[in-house]
Amino acid sequence: MGFKTITVKVPTDYTDEMLRKSISKELHIKQFSFQIENKSLDARNKSAIHWLLSVGVFSEEIKGAIQSEKELLSIPNIGKEKEVVVVGNGPAGFFCAYVLQKAGFKVIMIDRGSEVEKRSKGIEQFEQDGVFNPLGNYAFGEGGAGTFSDGKLTSRSKHISIEKQFILSSYVEAGAPREIEYMAHPHLGTDNLKKIVKNLRLAFQKLGGTMTFETTLTDIRVKDGRVEEVITDKGSYSPVAVFIAPGHSAYETYRMLLRRGVAFRTKNFALGSRMEHQQDVINIAQWGKPRLPGVKAAEYRLTSAGDGKHQVYSFCMCPGGMVVPATAYEDTNIVNGMSYFKRDGHFANAACVAGIHPDVLASKSVSPLEALDLVEQLERKFFSLTQKYAAPACNIRDFIDQKLRTKKMESSYPLGVEPLPLWQFLPESVTQAMKAGLLDFDRKMQAFTTGNLLGLESKTSSPIQVLREEGGRCVGFTNLFMMGEGSGYAGGIISSAADGVRTALHFVSQA
Ligand SMILES: Cc1cc2nc3c(=O)[nH]c(=O)nc-3n(C[C@H](O)[C@H](O)[C@H](O)COP(=O)(O)OP(=O)(O)OC[C@H]3O[C@@H](n4cnc5c(N)ncnc54)[C@H](O)[C@@H]3O)c2cc1C
Repeated sequence: MGFKTITVKVPTDYTDEMLRKSISKELHIKQFSFQIENKSLDARNKSAIHWLLSVGVFSEEIKGAIQSEKELLSIPNIGKEKEVVVVGNGPAGFFCAYVLQKAGFKVIMIDRGSEVEKRSKGIEQFEQDGVFNPLGNYAFGEGGAGTFSDGKLTSRSKHISIEKQFILSSYVEAGAPREIEYMAHPHLGTDNLKKIVKNLRLAFQKLGGTMTFETTLTDIRVKDGRVEEVITDKGSYSPVAVFIAPGHSAYETYRMLLRRGVAFRTKNFALGSRMEHQQDVINIAQWGKPRLPGVKAAEYRLTSAGDGKHQVYSFCMCPGGMVVPATAYEDTNIVNGMSYFKRDGHFANAACVAGIHPDVLASKSVSPLEALDLVEQLERKFFSLTQKYAAPACNIRDFIDQKLRTKKMESSYPLGVEPLPLWQFLPESVTQAMKAGLLDFDRKMQAFTTGNLLGLESKTSSPIQVLREEGGRCVGFTNLFMMGEGSGYAGGIISSAADGVRTALHFVSQA
């Protein structure tokens, strides 16, 4: 059996039969099987938008090469049966725990939030009555921050392909559509994610792992650089090692770790608001028409040098999605975005943020603790603007002109929007950079200023980073590891999950 990979160009609404014909014509063969290896939309020429497919074809009629075996992640089972604790059920914590359990450790995994079914109900209730629920919110609980998201699985890291392949195939085994393994811009949607995180929980438990919800890590007892005791609000553990992946919303966890001598430093992060447009506006700007058969909804990614001091860029775009109240705590107000697998909502949203350092915000050098305080104060300020979880908002043109003309606006945001001069409430340096960036985006995208800006986006990345050695071990500790977004070394579902996998594998290799 011969094998060949070819690239074929097919219409956006191609059928399997059309694809078979293209392959047959390209290779001059009749009997064959194939698998799609990569699928990306080529929209450079708006009058001839098409899919570009990389297809692996198997046939007796192909002479020569056979498919080379893909290198797969190898997890040795060292059967130690020693107890380890993993804190945080987001992508980083889960995949760390999953690998450690597969390697033979006795893993206890805890999360402060609820399991996904209860968490979903809590979020629904919050969006109906506007009363914040610490156990049912967008930040904490089973699957972590990304469970109620667009579930984009793109990652800019080039060096994680084996880990990424393991993560994607685990998602597929847990019920994800197979296309995530070949789409150039794969995404799951929150509807798939809710099923997937539950099935991953079951797979982990089947391996013998223990998963406990509504259990918060409150403290650690440290002696001579060793964590002797992991203290939670439901009891304590004395594991051989503890792996912490708290995400970057867990302020009190960060503060506790700082008190216990875990070293952090400040770093660049990003602040801004969420942009929202009618999806048709984006479709027309990107495709020249409101509908493209065979493609769900148009995406965009925008970057600008901003005001020359702070770069401005779009982030975490959710085509056909909703803007959501993503706060982790009562009386703080932040926004984020999510969508369903179909991406068929009326609106498109994305963060519009300026890259900034906490020292610039404070106009002085700040400690990691002060950096956290700064961000938290801003999140409280945005709550105080509406005294509820409604999103302060204005039109993009109003932001650029710094003139509030907007009286009423349409939005997907479930808790209401209130027209307010957003530019006055963001830090001045962020406002100046965003103003320049938005002007730039308006030059790049047709009808861009018809969109609105909503609320505060403060969670695109963490303002602090733990000091850690190779393998994720915290500097000065022998058995404490930090991973994922909360460590400050990862951002997004895939890179956080990959950080969890790598941390676990390194630990196994040293055990
Ligand atoms: C609404 C939304 C949409 C997003 N969309 C995307 C997207 O489309 N694509 C993408 O790549 N990224 C997206 N992100 C970002 C992505 O979710 C995060 O980068 C990723 O989840 C980080 O993974 P993590 O495991 O490091 O941390 P998290 O996912 O934040 O998980 C941390 C977990 O730790 C738990 N925890 C914290 N402190 C404690 C404690 N003291 N005790 C016990 N448990 C604790 C929390 O409950 C939480 O479950 C989105 C985020 C949000 C909020």
